[in-house]
Amino acid sequence: MLSGWQEYFSEARDQHGRFPYASSVQARYGFVALPVVNYYFDVLKTAVEHTTGRPLHPRTWGPGAPFAAFISHDLDNLRSAWKAPAKAALRTGRLVDFGRQLWQHWTHPDAWDNIEAVAAATAQYGARSTFFVLPAHRPGADGTPNADYQLTARLWRQLAKLAKQGHELALHASIGTANNFTQFDAERQRVLDAEWCGNRFHYLRWEPRLTPSILNQAGDSYDSTLGFAEHFGFRNSYCHPFYPFDFQHNQPYSFLEIPLNVMDATLHHPNYLQLGPDEILPALTPMLVEVEKFGGVVSVLWHNQNFDPVNTANGPQQFHEIMSWLRGRGAAFLTGTEIWAQFPAA
Ligand SMILES: [Zn+2]
Repeated sequence: MLSGWQEYFSEARDQHGRFPYASSVQARYGFVALPVVNYYFDVLKTAVEHTTGRPLHPRTWGPGAPFAAFISHDLDNLRSAWKAPAKAALRTGRLVDFGRQLWQHWTHPDAWDNIEAVAAATAQYGARSTFFVLPAHRPGADGTPNADYQLTARLWRQLAKLAKQGHELALHASIGTANNFTQFDAERQRVLDAEWCGNRFHYLRWEPRLTPSILNQAGDSYDSTLGFAEHFGFRNSYCHPFYPFDFQHNQPYSFLEIPLNVMDATLHHPNYLQLGPDEILPALTPMLVEVEKFGGVVSVLWHNQNFDPVNTANGPQQFHEIMSWLRGRGAAFLTGTEIWAQFPAA
């Protein structure tokens, strides 16, 4: 489970080239929300304590923090909030309304141009956000969209200001990079400076036979792609960061994986789950309790566009409910780099 054996040796892939949740043993036996690897390690821990007569102390994340939380936002869209209402107005022949939407678009900032508001929303909980920045504006070779924005000098200034406040910037590598080292490395060099070291692939693209060696070749860093888009929980059945396993060389890779547990889109989407607005926190709570029990890291991805108050399905309200729960249970809010820095090199 921890090594990703099931996906490495499986031929099953979805339309985005990803290992499908439906093909996983977690789906077959219904344990995606249980970190079974942690349960097995716990048995080993008890055995070691029994044999040596000495208690083993689990990792801690700071004074009084029983577990940690990693809060991140993939920046896919900063300019497109106006499109859906404008299209709807055009489709139904409401031309005055359509004209008003266009006028708004040209004269006002877009509702999704909101990264300062997103940073302020997490700061309310004493947390800092990690922003995954997508450097490719043109769609991928297969037509899948990348960023709806360009990395302009203005955007760089906005991002630099947030970084100064303690928020983190990382790479959101574009369509194609998960299969191509040259393309990945070019984006990495374009976006990452010495202080940025994290990555998450756009669309959670990950080819188990290629992607880990691309990350490994790029140097010491962390990744936070490994979660199922279709279901929240534990893709590697483990609730701590770990060094993924290299089957070809029979050793761990040198990049740290901080697994992704919850993505906003997973919770309410035509292709994924269709939870009601009041069902989201209750659905997630048993999984969150498991992470708390083992002192792991809860990794939450909430896209900036879902901080738009018009989203009442998986929007700001649901984000705040999750954050309140995490704070109430005493989670240490850490950035990816802070988590990475606590792990000795593999
Ligand atoms: Zn993305």
